[in-house]
Amino acid sequence: MMDRRAFLRAAGLVGAGSVLVGCSSGGPAEPGAATTPPTAPPPTTTTTGPPSPPNWESLRARISGTVLLPGDAEFDKAGLAFNPLTDTRKPAAVVRCKNKDDVQACVGVAAESKIPIAARGGGHSYAGYSVPEGGLLVDMSELKEIQVRPDGTVRIGAGARLMDVYTELAKAGRCLPGGSCPTVGIAGLTLGGGIGVLSRRFGLTCDRLDAATVVTADSQVIEASGAKGTDLFWALRGGGGGNFGIVTEFLFSTFPAPNLAVFTLRFPAGSVATALGAWQEWIASAPPELWSNFVVSGASRAPACHISGCYVGSVGDLNGLLAGLKARPTARIVQEKDYLQGMRFFAGGSQRESFVASSRMLPAPADPARVAELMTGRQGVDLLIDALGGAVADLGPSDTAFPHRKAFASAQIYGKTDASGAARATTQVAEIRDALAEFTGVTGYVNYIDPAMPDWANAYYGANLPRLQQVAKSVDPDKVFGFAQAVPRT
Ligand SMILES: Cc1cc2nc3c(=O)[nH]c(=O)nc-3n(C[C@H](O)[C@H](O)[C@H](O)COP(=O)(O)OP(=O)(O)OC[C@H]3O[C@@H](n4cnc5c(N)ncnc54)[C@H](O)[C@@H]3O)c2cc1C
Repeated sequence: MMDRRAFLRAAGLVGAGSVLVGCSSGGPAEPGAATTPPTAPPPTTTTTGPPSPPNWESLRARISGTVLLPGDAEFDKAGLAFNPLTDTRKPAAVVRCKNKDDVQACVGVAAESKIPIAARGGGHSYAGYSVPEGGLLVDMSELKEIQVRPDGTVRIGAGARLMDVYTELAKAGRCLPGGSCPTVGIAGLTLGGGIGVLSRRFGLTCDRLDAATVVTADSQVIEASGAKGTDLFWALRGGGGGNFGIVTEFLFSTFPAPNLAVFTLRFPAGSVATALGAWQEWIASAPPELWSNFVVSGASRAPACHISGCYVGSVGDLNGLLAGLKARPTARIVQEKDYLQGMRFFAGGSQRESFVASSRMLPAPADPARVAELMTGRQGVDLLIDALGGAVADLGPSDTAFPHRKAFASAQIYGKTDASGAARATTQVAEIRDALAEFTGVTGYVNYIDPAMPDWANAYYGANLPRLQQVAKSVDPDKVFGFAQAVPRT
Protein backbone atom coordinates (compact mmCIF):
# COMPACT_ATOMS: atom_id res chain seq x y z
CA MET A 1 0.00 0.00 0.00
CA MET A 2 1.18 3.52 -0.78
CA ASP A 3 2.38 5.49 2.22
CA ARG A 4 0.68 8.81 2.91
CA ARG A 5 3.30 11.03 1.33
CA ALA A 6 3.44 8.85 -1.76
CA PHE A 7 -0.34 8.99 -1.96
CA LEU A 8 -0.39 12.75 -1.64
CA ARG A 9 2.30 13.09 -4.24
CA ALA A 10 0.37 10.85 -6.63
CA ALA A 11 -2.71 12.93 -5.97
CA GLY A 12 -0.77 16.12 -6.64
CA LEU A 13 -1.11 17.34 -3.07
CA VAL A 14 2.62 17.70 -2.52
CA GLY A 15 5.44 18.47 -4.79
CA ALA A 16 3.22 19.19 -7.71
CA GLY A 17 2.96 22.64 -6.91
CA SER A 18 4.00 25.68 -7.77
CA VAL A 19 4.76 26.72 -11.28
CA LEU A 20 8.16 28.37 -11.34
CA VAL A 21 7.96 31.99 -12.25
CA GLY A 22 9.24 33.26 -15.56
CA CYS A 23 12.32 35.33 -16.29
CA SER A 24 11.77 39.00 -16.75
CA SER A 25 9.02 41.42 -16.07
CA GLY A 26 7.26 42.90 -19.03
CA GLY A 27 6.48 46.06 -17.08
CA PRO A 28 3.03 47.05 -15.89
CA ALA A 29 0.29 44.65 -16.89
CA GLU A 30 -2.26 45.93 -19.38
CA PRO A 31 -5.57 44.42 -18.40
CA GLY A 32 -7.52 47.39 -19.67
CA ALA A 33 -8.43 48.58 -16.20
CA ALA A 34 -7.93 52.00 -14.73
CA THR A 35 -5.02 51.86 -12.33
CA THR A 36 -4.54 53.78 -9.16
CA PRO A 37 -1.06 54.65 -7.98
CA PRO A 38 0.09 52.33 -5.25
CA THR A 39 -0.06 53.93 -1.83
CA ALA A 40 3.51 52.83 -1.07
CA PRO A 41 6.40 52.78 -3.49
CA PRO A 42 6.03 49.43 -5.23
CA PRO A 43 9.02 47.14 -5.00
CA THR A 44 10.54 46.80 -8.43
CA THR A 45 9.77 43.59 -10.24
CA THR A 46 12.03 44.23 -13.20
CA THR A 47 14.69 41.59 -12.89
CA THR A 48 17.27 40.91 -15.51
CA GLY A 49 19.78 38.83 -13.60
CA PRO A 50 19.32 35.55 -11.79
CA PRO A 51 16.77 35.60 -8.99
CA SER A 52 18.05 36.53 -5.56
CA PRO A 53 16.91 34.62 -2.49
CA PRO A 54 14.16 36.44 -0.64
CA ASN A 55 15.39 38.92 1.95
CA TRP A 56 12.92 38.27 4.73
CA GLU A 57 14.58 40.70 7.15
CA SER A 58 14.23 43.50 4.64
CA LEU A 59 10.56 42.61 4.13
CA ARG A 60 10.05 42.48 7.90
CA ALA A 61 11.45 45.98 8.23
CA ARG A 62 9.26 47.39 5.45
CA ILE A 63 5.78 46.09 6.30
CA SER A 64 3.27 46.68 9.08
CA GLY A 65 2.35 42.99 9.24
CA THR A 66 4.28 40.02 10.59
CA VAL A 67 6.79 37.79 8.81
CA LEU A 68 6.85 34.25 10.23
CA LEU A 69 9.74 31.96 9.33
CA PRO A 70 10.57 28.32 10.17
CA GLY A 71 11.62 28.25 13.80
CA ASP A 72 9.27 31.08 14.81
CA ALA A 73 6.86 29.89 17.47
CA GLU A 74 3.72 30.33 15.39
CA PHE A 75 5.12 29.27 12.03
CA ASP A 76 3.99 25.65 11.89
CA LYS A 77 0.39 26.44 12.79
CA ALA A 78 0.28 29.53 10.60
CA GLY A 79 1.08 27.44 7.53
CA LEU A 80 -1.86 25.04 7.80
CA ALA A 81 -4.90 24.88 5.52
CA PHE A 82 -8.37 23.52 6.43
CA ASN A 83 -7.77 20.00 5.09
CA PRO A 84 -5.15 18.16 7.21
CA LEU A 85 -4.32 15.91 4.25
CA THR A 86 -2.46 18.94 2.86
CA ASP A 87 -0.33 19.46 5.99
CA THR A 88 2.76 18.20 4.18
CA ARG A 89 2.78 21.41 2.13
CA LYS A 90 5.27 23.77 3.79
CA PRO A 91 5.74 27.42 2.83
CA ALA A 92 9.10 29.18 3.21
CA ALA A 93 7.44 32.10 4.97
CA VAL A 94 4.02 33.17 6.15
CA VAL A 95 3.33 36.90 6.01
CA ARG A 96 0.34 38.19 7.96
CA CYS A 97 -0.54 41.29 6.02
CA LYS A 98 -2.17 44.29 7.66
CA ASN A 99 -2.98 46.30 4.53
CA LYS A 100 -2.59 46.34 0.77
CA ASP A 101 0.87 47.92 0.97
CA ASP A 102 2.02 44.76 2.74
CA VAL A 103 0.48 42.66 -0.03
CA GLN A 104 2.28 44.76 -2.65
CA ALA A 105 5.56 44.23 -0.82
CA CYS A 106 4.98 40.45 -0.72
CA VAL A 107 4.25 40.27 -4.44
CA GLY A 108 7.42 42.27 -5.11
CA VAL A 109 9.54 39.82 -3.10
CA ALA A 110 8.05 36.81 -4.90
CA ALA A 111 8.53 38.39 -8.32
CA GLU A 112 12.14 39.31 -7.62
CA SER A 113 13.06 36.03 -6.00
CA LYS A 114 10.99 33.89 -8.34
CA ILE A 115 9.53 31.92 -5.48
CA PRO A 116 5.94 30.68 -5.47
CA ILE A 117 3.37 32.95 -3.85
CA ALA A 118 -0.26 32.36 -2.90
CA ALA A 119 -2.85 34.30 -0.93
CA ARG A 120 -4.81 32.53 1.76
CA GLY A 121 -8.32 33.71 2.59
CA GLY A 122 -10.21 31.04 4.52
CA GLY A 123 -7.66 28.32 3.68
CA HIS A 124 -10.35 25.92 2.39
CA SER A 125 -8.78 25.07 -0.97
CA TYR A 126 -9.44 21.34 -1.21
CA ALA A 127 -5.89 20.70 -2.41
CA GLY A 128 -4.21 23.23 -0.13
CA TYR A 129 -3.27 25.52 -3.02
CA SER A 130 -3.27 28.56 -0.73
CA VAL A 131 -0.17 27.09 0.93
CA PRO A 132 2.60 27.47 -1.69
CA GLU A 133 5.26 24.85 -1.12
CA GLY A 134 8.61 26.52 -0.50
CA GLY A 135 7.01 29.87 -1.21
CA LEU A 136 5.42 32.93 0.34
CA LEU A 137 2.04 32.41 1.96
CA VAL A 138 0.23 35.75 2.00
CA ASP A 139 -2.08 35.42 4.99
CA MET A 140 -5.00 37.81 4.46
CA SER A 141 -6.80 36.98 7.72
CA GLU A 142 -6.24 40.42 9.26
CA LEU A 143 -7.81 42.22 6.28
CA LYS A 144 -11.28 41.24 7.37
CA GLU A 145 -13.19 44.48 7.76
CA ILE A 146 -16.83 44.32 6.69
CA GLN A 147 -18.54 47.63 6.08
CA VAL A 148 -22.20 47.70 5.07
CA ARG A 149 -22.91 51.05 3.43
CA PRO A 150 -26.12 53.07 3.40
CA ASP A 151 -26.66 52.36 -0.32
CA GLY A 152 -26.87 48.62 0.40
CA THR A 153 -23.44 47.75 -0.92
CA VAL A 154 -20.87 46.09 1.32
CA ARG A 155 -17.08 46.37 1.31
CA ILE A 156 -15.46 43.16 2.50
CA GLY A 157 -11.77 42.63 3.23
CA ALA A 158 -10.39 39.58 1.44
CA GLY A 159 -9.58 37.83 4.72
CA ALA A 160 -13.19 37.73 5.93
CA ARG A 161 -14.95 34.42 6.50
CA LEU A 162 -18.51 33.64 5.55
CA MET A 163 -20.21 33.57 8.95
CA ASP A 164 -18.67 36.94 9.85
CA VAL A 165 -19.99 38.32 6.56
CA TYR A 166 -23.49 36.95 7.19
CA THR A 167 -23.48 38.24 10.77
CA GLU A 168 -22.54 41.79 9.79
CA LEU A 169 -25.02 41.82 6.90
CA ALA A 170 -27.82 40.51 9.12
CA LYS A 171 -27.22 43.35 11.60
CA ALA A 172 -27.92 45.76 8.74
CA GLY A 173 -30.90 43.74 7.44
CA ARG A 174 -29.07 42.75 4.25
CA CYS A 175 -28.02 39.47 2.63
CA LEU A 176 -25.52 38.15 0.10
CA PRO A 177 -25.82 34.73 -1.56
CA GLY A 178 -22.86 32.65 -0.39
CA GLY A 179 -21.71 29.18 0.60
CA SER A 180 -22.51 27.11 3.64
CA CYS A 181 -19.33 26.48 5.64
CA PRO A 182 -18.90 29.25 8.26
CA THR A 183 -15.12 29.46 7.91
CA VAL A 184 -14.82 29.41 4.10
CA GLY A 185 -13.22 32.64 2.92
CA ILE A 186 -15.21 35.19 0.94
CA ALA A 187 -12.16 35.46 -1.35
CA GLY A 188 -11.85 31.90 -2.62
CA LEU A 189 -15.61 31.44 -2.69
CA THR A 190 -16.26 34.54 -4.82
CA LEU A 191 -13.34 34.08 -7.19
CA GLY A 192 -14.49 30.55 -8.08
CA GLY A 193 -18.21 31.41 -8.32
CA GLY A 194 -19.94 30.77 -5.00
CA ILE A 195 -22.79 28.25 -4.91
CA GLY A 196 -25.20 28.21 -1.97
CA VAL A 197 -28.69 27.92 -0.60
CA LEU A 198 -29.72 31.35 -1.93
CA SER A 199 -28.17 30.95 -5.40
CA ARG A 200 -31.37 30.11 -7.25
CA ARG A 201 -33.01 33.24 -5.89
CA PHE A 202 -30.10 35.73 -5.79
CA GLY A 203 -27.40 34.23 -8.04
CA LEU A 204 -23.85 33.13 -7.35
CA THR A 205 -21.72 35.16 -4.95
CA CYS A 206 -19.64 36.39 -7.90
CA ASP A 207 -22.80 37.67 -9.61
CA ARG A 208 -23.21 40.24 -6.85
CA LEU A 209 -19.63 41.51 -7.15
CA ASP A 210 -19.45 45.15 -8.27
CA ALA A 211 -15.71 45.78 -7.91
CA ALA A 212 -12.51 44.33 -6.52
CA THR A 213 -9.21 45.87 -5.48
CA VAL A 214 -6.41 43.73 -6.86
CA VAL A 215 -2.63 43.72 -6.37
CA THR A 216 -1.29 42.50 -9.70
CA ALA A 217 1.93 40.64 -10.50
CA ASP A 218 3.84 43.90 -10.96
CA SER A 219 2.74 45.10 -7.50
CA GLN A 220 0.32 47.66 -8.89
CA VAL A 221 -3.12 48.21 -7.36
CA ILE A 222 -6.02 47.92 -9.78
CA GLU A 223 -9.67 48.68 -9.18
CA ALA A 224 -11.48 46.15 -11.38
CA SER A 225 -15.17 46.73 -11.95
CA GLY A 226 -17.99 46.28 -14.42
CA ALA A 227 -18.14 50.02 -14.99
CA LYS A 228 -14.60 49.86 -16.22
CA GLY A 229 -15.54 46.85 -18.32
CA THR A 230 -12.34 44.99 -17.82
CA ASP A 231 -11.42 41.48 -18.81
CA LEU A 232 -9.90 41.16 -15.36
CA PHE A 233 -13.26 41.84 -13.72
CA TRP A 234 -14.83 39.23 -15.97
CA ALA A 235 -12.14 36.70 -14.95
CA LEU A 236 -12.51 37.40 -11.23
CA ARG A 237 -16.11 36.18 -11.38
CA GLY A 238 -15.60 32.42 -11.56
CA GLY A 239 -12.07 32.15 -12.97
CA GLY A 240 -10.77 30.69 -9.70
CA GLY A 241 -8.63 32.02 -6.85
CA GLY A 242 -4.89 32.46 -7.16
CA ASN A 243 -4.78 33.16 -10.88
CA PHE A 244 -4.82 36.87 -11.65
CA GLY A 245 -3.44 38.72 -8.63
CA ILE A 246 -4.29 39.11 -4.98
CA VAL A 247 -7.64 40.71 -4.19
CA THR A 248 -7.48 42.84 -1.07
CA GLU A 249 -11.09 44.00 -0.97
CA PHE A 250 -14.44 43.18 -2.59
CA LEU A 251 -17.45 45.44 -3.15
CA PHE A 252 -20.79 43.63 -3.43
CA SER A 253 -24.40 44.61 -3.96
CA THR A 254 -26.71 43.07 -1.37
CA PHE A 255 -30.43 42.36 -1.02
CA PRO A 256 -32.80 42.98 1.88
CA ALA A 257 -32.44 39.97 4.20
CA PRO A 258 -35.45 37.70 3.67
CA ASN A 259 -37.17 35.31 6.05
CA LEU A 260 -36.49 31.71 5.15
CA ALA A 261 -38.15 28.33 5.52
CA VAL A 262 -35.63 25.48 5.79
CA PHE A 263 -36.21 21.75 5.65
CA THR A 264 -34.67 18.29 5.84
CA LEU A 265 -36.35 15.09 4.67
CA ARG A 266 -34.94 11.64 5.39
CA PHE A 267 -35.61 8.49 3.41
CA PRO A 268 -35.02 4.84 4.28
CA ALA A 269 -31.92 3.04 3.05
CA GLY A 270 -32.48 1.57 -0.39
CA SER A 271 -34.80 4.33 -1.65
CA VAL A 272 -32.19 6.37 -3.56
CA ALA A 273 -33.49 5.56 -7.03
CA THR A 274 -37.14 6.42 -6.32
CA ALA A 275 -36.41 9.45 -4.12
CA LEU A 276 -33.84 10.89 -6.55
CA GLY A 277 -36.20 10.44 -9.49
CA ALA A 278 -38.94 12.27 -7.60
CA TRP A 279 -36.59 15.03 -6.37
CA GLN A 280 -35.17 15.74 -9.83
CA GLU A 281 -38.65 16.04 -11.34
CA TRP A 282 -39.76 18.27 -8.43
CA ILE A 283 -36.80 20.68 -8.37
CA ALA A 284 -36.72 21.01 -12.17
CA SER A 285 -40.09 22.76 -12.08
CA ALA A 286 -39.68 24.56 -8.73
CA PRO A 287 -39.66 28.37 -8.48
CA PRO A 288 -36.27 30.11 -8.02
CA GLU A 289 -37.17 30.90 -4.42
CA LEU A 290 -36.71 27.21 -3.67
CA TRP A 291 -33.24 25.72 -3.44
CA SER A 292 -32.62 22.11 -2.52
CA ASN A 293 -29.99 19.41 -2.55
CA PHE A 294 -30.10 15.62 -2.66
CA VAL A 295 -27.45 13.77 -0.68
CA VAL A 296 -26.65 10.10 -1.24
CA SER A 297 -24.55 8.49 1.48
CA GLY A 298 -22.64 5.57 0.02
CA ALA A 299 -23.07 2.22 1.77
CA SER A 300 -21.98 -1.36 1.22
CA ARG A 301 -25.46 -2.53 0.13
CA ALA A 302 -28.23 0.08 0.24
CA PRO A 303 -27.14 3.73 0.13
CA ALA A 304 -29.17 6.12 2.26
CA CYS A 305 -30.35 9.56 1.17
CA HIS A 306 -31.78 12.79 2.42
CA ILE A 307 -32.99 16.06 0.96
CA SER A 308 -32.35 19.52 2.41
CA GLY A 309 -33.54 22.85 1.23
CA CYS A 310 -34.20 26.50 1.75
CA TYR A 311 -37.20 28.50 0.60
CA VAL A 312 -37.17 32.28 0.40
CA GLY A 313 -40.68 32.71 1.78
CA SER A 314 -43.03 31.30 4.37
CA VAL A 315 -43.36 27.81 5.87
CA GLY A 316 -46.94 27.70 4.57
CA ASP A 317 -45.84 28.24 0.98
CA LEU A 318 -42.97 25.77 1.40
CA ASN A 319 -45.38 23.12 2.69
CA GLY A 320 -47.46 23.64 -0.43
CA LEU A 321 -44.40 22.99 -2.59
CA LEU A 322 -43.32 19.97 -0.54
CA ALA A 323 -46.73 18.42 -1.12
CA GLY A 324 -45.77 18.13 -4.78
CA LEU A 325 -42.73 15.93 -4.07
CA LYS A 326 -43.64 12.40 -5.11
CA ALA A 327 -41.52 10.65 -2.47
CA ARG A 328 -42.54 10.08 1.13
CA PRO A 329 -39.86 10.72 3.77
CA THR A 330 -39.70 8.82 7.05
CA ALA A 331 -38.56 11.95 8.94
CA ARG A 332 -39.23 15.59 8.20
CA ILE A 333 -38.08 18.89 9.69
CA VAL A 334 -39.51 22.19 8.44
CA GLN A 335 -38.63 25.39 10.28
CA GLU A 336 -38.97 29.12 9.83
CA LYS A 337 -35.72 31.10 10.23
CA ASP A 338 -34.52 34.61 9.84
CA TYR A 339 -31.62 35.09 7.41
CA LEU A 340 -28.82 34.60 9.94
CA GLN A 341 -30.51 31.63 11.62
CA GLY A 342 -30.96 30.12 8.16
CA MET A 343 -27.26 30.51 7.37
CA ARG A 344 -26.42 28.88 10.73
CA PHE A 345 -28.81 25.99 9.98
CA PHE A 346 -26.72 25.03 6.94
CA ALA A 347 -23.34 26.00 8.42
CA GLY A 348 -21.94 22.79 9.91
CA GLY A 349 -18.82 22.87 12.05
CA SER A 350 -15.69 24.89 11.69
CA GLN A 351 -13.12 22.30 12.81
CA ARG A 352 -10.52 21.15 10.31
CA GLU A 353 -11.55 18.02 8.43
CA SER A 354 -9.61 15.51 6.33
CA PHE A 355 -11.29 14.71 3.04
CA VAL A 356 -10.85 13.92 -0.62
CA ALA A 357 -13.37 15.40 -3.05
CA SER A 358 -14.22 16.09 -6.65
CA SER A 359 -17.15 17.31 -8.70
CA ARG A 360 -19.09 17.22 -11.94
CA MET A 361 -21.82 19.47 -13.30
CA LEU A 362 -25.05 17.74 -14.33
CA PRO A 363 -26.55 19.28 -17.49
CA ALA A 364 -29.88 17.52 -16.85
CA PRO A 365 -31.39 15.04 -14.39
CA ALA A 366 -29.25 11.92 -14.03
CA ASP A 367 -30.46 8.33 -14.32
CA PRO A 368 -31.52 7.64 -10.70
CA ALA A 369 -30.98 3.88 -10.88
CA ARG A 370 -27.46 4.40 -12.21
CA VAL A 371 -26.67 6.86 -9.40
CA ALA A 372 -27.93 4.37 -6.80
CA GLU A 373 -25.77 1.68 -8.38
CA LEU A 374 -22.71 3.97 -8.42
CA MET A 375 -23.02 4.73 -4.71
CA THR A 376 -23.40 1.10 -3.69
CA GLY A 377 -20.26 -0.26 -2.04
CA ARG A 378 -19.03 3.28 -1.32
CA GLN A 379 -19.08 3.56 2.46
CA GLY A 380 -17.74 6.87 3.68
CA VAL A 381 -18.37 8.71 0.41
CA ASP A 382 -21.26 11.14 -0.10
CA LEU A 383 -22.66 12.45 -3.37
CA LEU A 384 -24.14 15.92 -2.91
CA ILE A 385 -26.34 17.04 -5.79
CA ASP A 386 -27.03 20.79 -5.42
CA ALA A 387 -29.72 22.29 -7.61
CA LEU A 388 -28.66 25.18 -9.83
CA GLY A 389 -30.96 26.99 -12.27
CA GLY A 390 -33.03 30.00 -11.25
CA ALA A 391 -30.95 33.18 -11.03
CA VAL A 392 -27.73 31.25 -11.77
CA ALA A 393 -29.07 30.60 -15.27
CA ASP A 394 -30.17 34.22 -15.78
CA LEU A 395 -26.64 34.92 -17.02
CA GLY A 396 -25.08 33.20 -20.01
CA PRO A 397 -22.06 30.85 -19.86
CA SER A 398 -19.68 33.55 -21.14
CA ASP A 399 -21.14 36.53 -19.22
CA THR A 400 -18.72 35.81 -16.37
CA ALA A 401 -15.89 33.29 -16.16
CA PHE A 402 -18.20 30.75 -14.42
CA PRO A 403 -19.23 28.59 -17.40
CA HIS A 404 -21.82 26.26 -15.85
CA ARG A 405 -24.77 28.64 -16.08
CA LYS A 406 -27.12 26.20 -17.71
CA ALA A 407 -26.27 23.23 -15.48
CA PHE A 408 -29.15 21.51 -13.75
CA ALA A 409 -27.05 20.80 -10.63
CA SER A 410 -23.54 20.46 -9.31
CA ALA A 411 -22.58 16.99 -8.11
CA GLN A 412 -19.90 16.91 -5.44
CA ILE A 413 -18.27 13.65 -4.45
CA TYR A 414 -16.93 13.92 -0.90
CA GLY A 415 -15.00 11.29 1.02
CA LYS A 416 -14.33 12.14 4.64
CA THR A 417 -11.29 10.20 5.71
CA ASP A 418 -8.25 10.20 7.92
CA ALA A 419 -4.77 9.87 6.44
CA SER A 420 -4.80 6.08 6.66
CA GLY A 421 -7.94 5.87 4.50
CA ALA A 422 -6.97 8.60 2.06
CA ALA A 423 -5.71 6.32 -0.72
CA ARG A 424 -8.93 4.29 -0.67
CA ALA A 425 -11.09 7.44 -0.54
CA THR A 426 -9.15 8.91 -3.46
CA THR A 427 -9.85 5.81 -5.54
CA GLN A 428 -13.53 5.79 -4.65
CA VAL A 429 -13.99 9.48 -5.37
CA ALA A 430 -12.16 9.14 -8.70
CA GLU A 431 -14.26 6.15 -9.76
CA ILE A 432 -17.51 7.98 -9.05
CA ARG A 433 -16.26 11.17 -10.73
CA ASP A 434 -15.20 9.28 -13.84
CA ALA A 435 -18.42 7.28 -14.01
CA LEU A 436 -20.52 10.44 -13.66
CA ALA A 437 -18.84 11.78 -16.78
CA GLU A 438 -21.24 9.60 -18.75
CA PHE A 439 -23.95 12.17 -17.78
CA THR A 440 -21.81 15.27 -17.44
CA GLY A 441 -18.96 15.15 -19.94
CA VAL A 442 -15.75 16.95 -18.97
CA THR A 443 -17.05 19.34 -16.30
CA GLY A 444 -16.20 20.28 -12.73
CA TYR A 445 -16.46 23.18 -10.30
CA VAL A 446 -13.19 25.02 -9.72
CA ASN A 447 -14.07 25.67 -6.09
CA TYR A 448 -14.18 21.91 -5.51
CA ILE A 449 -10.70 21.81 -6.94
CA ASP A 450 -9.46 18.26 -7.47
CA PRO A 451 -5.72 17.74 -7.98
CA ALA A 452 -6.48 14.49 -9.84
CA MET A 453 -9.23 15.87 -12.12
CA PRO A 454 -8.60 14.67 -15.70
CA ASP A 455 -8.50 17.51 -18.25
CA TRP A 456 -9.05 19.93 -15.38
CA ALA A 457 -8.76 23.24 -17.26
CA ASN A 458 -11.53 22.29 -19.69
CA ALA A 459 -13.57 20.78 -16.87
CA TYR A 460 -13.50 23.97 -14.77
CA TYR A 461 -13.74 26.54 -17.52
CA GLY A 462 -15.16 24.97 -20.67
CA ALA A 463 -15.45 27.45 -23.54
CA ASN A 464 -14.25 30.29 -21.26
CA LEU A 465 -10.74 28.82 -21.05
CA PRO A 466 -9.12 30.70 -23.98
CA ARG A 467 -10.30 34.10 -22.70
CA LEU A 468 -9.12 33.26 -19.18
CA GLN A 469 -5.72 32.32 -20.58
CA GLN A 470 -5.52 35.66 -22.37
CA VAL A 471 -6.37 37.55 -19.19
CA ALA A 472 -3.81 35.58 -17.19
CA LYS A 473 -1.14 36.26 -19.80
CA SER A 474 -2.03 39.92 -19.86
CA VAL A 475 -2.03 40.58 -16.11
CA ASP A 476 0.74 38.12 -15.20
CA PRO A 477 3.03 37.58 -18.21
CA ASP A 478 5.92 36.39 -16.04
CA LYS A 479 3.87 33.80 -14.16
CA VAL A 480 4.41 35.29 -10.73
CA PHE A 481 1.20 33.57 -9.63
CA GLY A 482 0.96 29.89 -10.29
CA PHE A 483 0.09 26.54 -8.81
CA ALA A 484 -0.52 23.05 -10.16
CA GLN A 485 -3.97 23.96 -11.53
CA ALA A 486 -3.46 27.65 -12.32
CA VAL A 487 -5.04 28.86 -15.56
CA PRO A 488 -2.35 27.91 -18.11
CA ARG A 489 -0.62 31.00 -19.56
CA THR A 490 0.09 29.51 -22.97
C1 LIG B 1 -16.12 22.61 4.36
C2 LIG B 1 -16.24 23.31 3.04
C3 LIG B 1 -17.49 23.79 2.64
C4 LIG B 1 -17.62 24.45 1.40
N1 LIG B 1 -18.84 24.91 1.01
C5 LIG B 1 -18.97 25.55 -0.18
C6 LIG B 1 -20.24 26.05 -0.62
O1 LIG B 1 -21.24 25.95 0.08
N2 LIG B 1 -20.31 26.66 -1.83
C7 LIG B 1 -19.21 26.81 -2.64
O2 LIG B 1 -19.34 27.38 -3.72
N3 LIG B 1 -18.00 26.36 -2.23
C8 LIG B 1 -17.87 25.73 -1.04
N4 LIG B 1 -16.64 25.25 -0.65
C9 LIG B 1 -15.51 25.40 -1.56
C10 LIG B 1 -14.87 26.76 -1.38
O3 LIG B 1 -15.65 27.74 -2.05
C11 LIG B 1 -13.45 26.76 -1.97
O4 LIG B 1 -12.67 25.80 -1.32
C12 LIG B 1 -12.82 28.14 -1.87
O5 LIG B 1 -11.77 28.24 -2.79
C13 LIG B 1 -12.32 28.40 -0.48
O6 LIG B 1 -11.94 29.73 -0.35
P1 LIG B 1 -10.97 30.11 0.87
O7 LIG B 1 -10.69 31.56 0.77
O8 LIG B 1 -11.54 29.58 2.13
O9 LIG B 1 -9.73 29.21 0.54
P2 LIG B 1 -8.17 29.50 0.29
O10 LIG B 1 -7.54 28.16 0.40
O11 LIG B 1 -7.68 30.58 1.17
O12 LIG B 1 -8.14 30.01 -1.21
C14 LIG B 1 -8.61 29.24 -2.30
C15 LIG B 1 -7.84 29.67 -3.56
O13 LIG B 1 -8.05 31.06 -3.78
C16 LIG B 1 -6.81 31.77 -3.68
N5 LIG B 1 -7.04 33.00 -2.93
C17 LIG B 1 -7.36 33.12 -1.63
N6 LIG B 1 -7.47 34.41 -1.29
C18 LIG B 1 -7.23 35.12 -2.40
C19 LIG B 1 -7.19 36.50 -2.68
N7 LIG B 1 -7.41 37.41 -1.73
N8 LIG B 1 -6.91 36.90 -3.94
C20 LIG B 1 -6.68 35.98 -4.93
N9 LIG B 1 -6.68 34.66 -4.70
C21 LIG B 1 -6.96 34.23 -3.46
C22 LIG B 1 -5.85 30.84 -2.97
O14 LIG B 1 -4.50 31.11 -3.26
C23 LIG B 1 -6.33 29.48 -3.44
O15 LIG B 1 -5.81 29.18 -4.72
C24 LIG B 1 -16.49 24.62 0.58
C25 LIG B 1 -15.25 24.15 1.01
C26 LIG B 1 -15.12 23.49 2.22
C27 LIG B 1 -13.78 22.98 2.64
